[in-house]
Amino acid sequence: MLYGYMGKLLFVDLTTGKFHEEELTENLARSFIGGYGIGARILYEKMNKGTDPLGPENVIGFMTGPFTGTKVVTSCRFTVVTKSPLTGYWGDSNCGGYFAEALKSCGYDGVFFTGRSSKPVHFHLEDNKPMLRDASHLWGMNTQETEETIRKEIGNPRLRLVCIGPAGEKKSLITAIITEAGRAAGRSGVGAVMGSKNLKAFSAQGNLKVSVARPDDVKRLNRQMIDELKQPNEPARTYMKYGTSGNVASCVESQDAPLQNWKGINEQVFPVKERAAKISDENVIRYQTKKFACGSCPIACGGIVSLTGDRWILKDVHKPEYETLISFGALCLNDDIESIIKCNDICNLYGMDTISAGATIAFAMECYENQLITKDDTGGIDLTWGHGEGVVKLLQSMAERKGFGAILADGARRAAERIGKGSEEFAMHVGGQEIPMHDPRFAPGYGTTYVVDPAPGRHTHGGTMGVEWGRVNPRFAHLNLPEVKPHDYKNKGDLHRVYASWQHIISSVGLCWFGSHSVFYPIPDMLNAITGWNTNINELILTGNRIWMMRYAFNLREGFKPSTYQLPSRVTGDPPLTVGPLKGITIDIKSLKQEAYKALGLDPDTGAIHEAELKRLGLDQIMGK
Ligand code: SF4
Repeated sequence: MLYGYMGKLLFVDLTTGKFHEEELTENLARSFIGGYGIGARILYEKMNKGTDPLGPENVIGFMTGPFTGTKVVTSCRFTVVTKSPLTGYWGDSNCGGYFAEALKSCGYDGVFFTGRSSKPVHFHLEDNKPMLRDASHLWGMNTQETEETIRKEIGNPRLRLVCIGPAGEKKSLITAIITEAGRAAGRSGVGAVMGSKNLKAFSAQGNLKVSVARPDDVKRLNRQMIDELKQPNEPARTYMKYGTSGNVASCVESQDAPLQNWKGINEQVFPVKERAAKISDENVIRYQTKKFACGSCPIACGGIVSLTGDRWILKDVHKPEYETLISFGALCLNDDIESIIKCNDICNLYGMDTISAGATIAFAMECYENQLITKDDTGGIDLTWGHGEGVVKLLQSMAERKGFGAILADGARRAAERIGKGSEEFAMHVGGQEIPMHDPRFAPGYGTTYVVDPAPGRHTHGGTMGVEWGRVNPRFAHLNLPEVKPHDYKNKGDLHRVYASWQHIISSVGLCWFGSHSVFYPIPDMLNAITGWNTNINELILTGNRIWMMRYAFNLREGFKPSTYQLPSRVTGDPPLTVGPLKGITIDIKSLKQEAYKALGLDPDTGAIHEAELKRLGLDQIMGK
């Protein structure tokens, strides 16, 4: 009996319409846990080098983890895995809501799609019964219309599903997969892969339960988590009251949040504190009509907001979160909160990644400032810094892939290639993926993760940044990791390996980052109680390291080199900012990257994996392919 798992993976060939199941063995579960861990192992086996990310041979998988369906605190996340059309390498994206539990209640730990349907389809799972349904009438609908229509058709108003909007159908490379009309698997361009397969939606309803090995222990540990979350506790208090919008003002003030397309700004010209307050905490939740929680989550960081003004009327749409408030806000010097709420809604309806979309608009604003583009190019849209209505208009045209929006619809790297005139200087991306809203000049560990993780430009893939803010995980005390200061550039390699590996465990078991970091979740104890295993921190760090390496091996097979992922020099502080709290800082990204590569058992020059490391991780047999 494989406790914590359903023990099966489903494969759907969209070209032939055929399905087949494969067993999820205990060895696979224990070696790769779930989420993008098992996802990476499957994609490495099922895909060949050189696959076109938008071709039928690409595989897109939806994976849960062993915590999914157990109802333990914040166990609601699923992961999408695929070859990213945005970067051309490994892609994954993580999302909350209620879909993960619904998928698992159908008797599968994950579902993988291959091929391409000749017409739009909706894939529906009902317990163990998979079916492909015609979705021609859904093509062109936004995500909310799609959800409502499918729920009516299936006759279940509480049906859980994921879908793409019109932007994904048009295969824009910065598109998301959406659930609950506003929770997004936003990164890596995963929406475009669904669009390329003519897969409009995937819904699931089931009645199968997840068996756990020691139910009393699961309940006890869960109660302990809930009690801990009730204590005066930061960051959980902030998330409960404001969601991540509660971090905006402080992050802008410290300039963890980038301003004006990462070039900063003089306080005298732009009073940062005063302007940031307009898009932060109280000034966001004053639009909130109710809270939104993902499944099994007592934190409920989400919110539902409405706008009744004379510019945009919106009823009961999702509240923008930190990344969105900064990407359409501080990054564009825009403090018009209603324009950001509107942008968030456009992204949700059309299925776009708010980080990449906002960052691409900030890129366009800098092109506009430098007269590389003018109103003649933008179709009359004013792209002056801070012009919120211009941001909304431009985003709408990107979502529809019309006019100047079509130039920007595939992100900043492609836009710079199309615009030319040296505009690449203003495109803030790593390997094609726009950089999230945390500045490596503030916490250099972000820089390491942005260039070292197999999915580049990601703030949720772990590293030393938590330690740099002073959040040391007490469960690692026995590892005697070095004490470091934020701007030390030596002795961080092993620290990066351990913290990143741990993050891969958090994501692969199916936990939300906020829940797991708010209370230093007792993951080994909970995993043992769910699965009946006898694992421990050291084994899990090794497993997280294996998951990292499996994703990296996918890239290496594609011809990846360490130079493939580089931080733009502006983001490293070269030249350094001349204003603000990060003034004068240049981070030594070369040393950080080299140390991380060495700690991960890689040659920092060629990127090759050392034989001994493959053996240590038990991957030497797999890599022969
Ligand atoms: S903390 Fe927020 S994102 Fe995480 S599970 Fe809870 S509601 Fe969802």
